[in-house]
Amino acid sequence: AKAAGGNRFELADAEADARAITRHGLTTALPAALERGEFFIEYQPLVHLDDGTVHGAEALVRWLHPQHGILGPDRFIPLAEHTGLIVPLGRWVLEQSVRQAKAWQDQLPGSAAGRPLRINVNLSPTQLHHPGLVAETVEVLDRIGLAPGALCLEVTESALIGADEDLLKPLRQLAEMGVDIALDDFGTGYSNLANLRRLPVSVLKLDRSFTQGMQQHPADPVDLKIVEGIVSLAHSLDLAVTVEGVETGAQADHLRRLGCDTAQGWFYARPGPPEHLHRLSLLDAV
Ligand code: C2E
Ligand code: CA
Ligand code: CA
Ligand code: CA
Repeated sequence: AKAAGGNRFELADAEADARAITRHGLTTALPAALERGEFFIEYQPLVHLDDGTVHGAEALVRWLHPQHGILGPDRFIPLAEHTGLIVPLGRWVLEQSVRQAKAWQDQLPGSAAGRPLRINVNLSPTQLHHPGLVAETVEVLDRIGLAPGALCLEVTESALIGADEDLLKPLRQLAEMGVDIALDDFGTGYSNLANLRRLPVSVLKLDRSFTQGMQQHPADPVDLKIVEGIVSLAHSLDLAVTVEGVETGAQADHLRRLGCDTAQGWFYARPGPPEHLHRLSLLDAV
């Protein structure tokens, strides 16, 4: 038993070492990876729940690492946050995403229907604190020629909990220009609902955990009640409601009935290359 215990400890140590080395290795490799163009973006469609047409897409960054293959953002965004590399990386994501949205608007029938396709881009807390955020965002939109109203910046609820006016000011400025601000992962951060009025947000993005109880008929009645309450509160404050992590048709039915506006999830499409959106919105046109 003693030997087994010893082995277990050795194994645990070895794993911890490997993780630490990887973390350290990834962290130091980040700047060169950005210069060498190892990052790429997948786009996941957002659809209107009422008629299933495409609303736009969320940009989700990935790292094609020369040794480790494709790494998801959970592996490197926290590291990039920690070292500050998130600022240039986030700037790159914004630029690529705005270019892509402009290309979609120029090429796809969505714009002809009077509902130009939108692009959602994630902002992490360090980017919120970066003094150049507003000027850089305006510059990119101007240079590429995308209307501010076609951009939605997603900020997590936890990043805004207890936020003071200094932190909210850049978001307020962007909102006044017409950029949408979404409160991401809503419902996971214990924020005071009354506080919502104080924040310059126009979209609530309901966390996946809320829709998990709706994967079957009948759905969990408590989950239905909670979402119903959130939707009615959001709409009374003039906020649109997006739901993420919709994996089944049953969930989509419930969420439509509860009055959610837009949805995103594997039921509609996984994150993928920009051409996927072409296929989906061409289907809208027929
Ligand atoms: P998020 O903003 O909550 O993004 C949604 C995540 O849910 C994505 O994971 C997406 O692939 C996944 N997802 C989408 N539909 C479904 C579904 O139906 N079921 C399930 N189980 N999952 C689904 P991903 O791509 O791994 O991104 C993870 C997180 O990394 C994102 O969470 C976001 O917080 C962050 N992130 C991604 N791209 C960026 C970026 O460019 N900048 C910053 N700051 N953060 C980013
Ligand atoms: Ca997001
Ligand atoms: Ca989210
Ligand atoms: Ca989430």
